[in-house]
Amino acid sequence: MTTEDKANILIVEDEINLHEALRLNLEMEGYEVSSAYDGNEALRQIANAYFDLIIMDIMLPELDGISITENIRVHNNNVPILMLSAKNAPADKVLGLKKGADDYLSKPFNLEELLIRVAKLIEKNKRILVKESVGDQYKFGNNLIDFKAQDSITWNGSTISLSKKEALLLKLLIENKGEVVPREKILQVVWGYNVYPTTRTIDNFILSFRKYFEEDSRSPKYFHSVRGVGYKFIE
Ligand code: CA
Repeated sequence: MTTEDKANILIVEDEINLHEALRLNLEMEGYEVSSAYDGNEALRQIANAYFDLIIMDIMLPELDGISITENIRVHNNNVPILMLSAKNAPADKVLGLKKGADDYLSKPFNLEELLIRVAKLIEKNKRILVKESVGDQYKFGNNLIDFKAQDSITWNGSTISLSKKEALLLKLLIENKGEVVPREKILQVVWGYNVYPTTRTIDNFILSFRKYFEEDSRSPKYFHSVRGVGYKFIE
């Protein structure tokens, strides 16, 4: 398995021993693990990388896990969050789930149970991300795209070779026709690992698509950007 295929998990936990135990066990299961020991460090990492799952303690220095979760959801980031807490208070659990956590475990917990929940959350999220495929070829207007051959014949008769990333991004947008595809999802599907290219990188891909496939690239019919959210293909 290459690094790019491994799911990336962020552990946000200030108790060193527990943190290390989690890290070791998750790495043994084949996950790529990143660490944060306080709230601000967690926010910094979340802003700069893609994660398939976050394991989030509630009681943390600087910023608590519930506030971090709230912050993540306010930014339209739907990363699965498994919340941990020493506090067994039901109110705590309810608040965590209300603020956007997907699952909850009270300490002390059984490591095996945690690993099962981790795998389930990641699997469920993947199923949401992967939609039905459009097939090898797709025609819109007078453009024909061949995803497999990575080329296209455009409305003015030109043949264009597509890079692998261009073909992937086209496929993703077309499979979600009429819906805004969030930036995070594009990064996961097209770039596929937890290094974020800048927003401008995706913008440049969209500009190329308009140049290839739009009869008037300045007033695009098919490829639209939705400021601050993502991109949309309309037919
Ligand atoms: Ca703690």
